[in-house]
Amino acid sequence: MPDPTGSAVLAYVALGANLGDARTTVVNAIAALNQLPGTRVLRASSLYQTAPFEASGPDFFNAVVALHTTLSAADLLTQLQQLENAHGRLRPYINAPRTLDLDIVLYGDEVVMRPDLQIPHPRMLQRAFVLVPLAEIAPGAVTAGQLAAVADQAIQRV
Ligand code: ADP
Ligand code: MG
Repeated sequence: MPDPTGSAVLAYVALGANLGDARTTVVNAIAALNQLPGTRVLRASSLYQTAPFEASGPDFFNAVVALHTTLSAADLLTQLQQLENAHGRLRPYINAPRTLDLDIVLYGDEVVMRPDLQIPHPRMLQRAFVLVPLAEIAPGAVTAGQLAAVADQAIQRV
């Protein structure tokens, strides 16, 4: 019998929210990711609270999860956008406050450079709210130098 997980890919998704009950939104979104077709959450980082970075509004709650998924990268993006929409996400302007932001940080070792999807996420190296939780659950994915480069950004484990 074929291994049903044989085609599954290890992917990392970053979660962020800063409107409404942002902490609950992130916790619920992690549970929702575990319910996506062909997808299991293998590990979830701690929750982190961060000041808005190139964004506005209240503090963010952030986390990163490791997923095992049989979804393609494009299908995973579609599913993440549906989850964002289900949480009432509006996009009135770039970097507007958001109820829920779900970004694909890594998808196996795939490199994707499409207009609507870039993997590895092109801004991950500038963002402590991605690198710090990613380093917590995947130490080999982040170097000390990369962490040092974002050490000026306020981030607190909560
Ligand atoms: P951001 O996450 O950069 O703050 P948005 O969530 O509004 O901004 O995303 C804008 C667009 O980024 C989405 O419409 C999506 O097509 C695109 N995008 C490109 N690469 C990725 C990725 N790796 N994960 C999620 N979205 C991505
Ligand atoms: Mg996004």
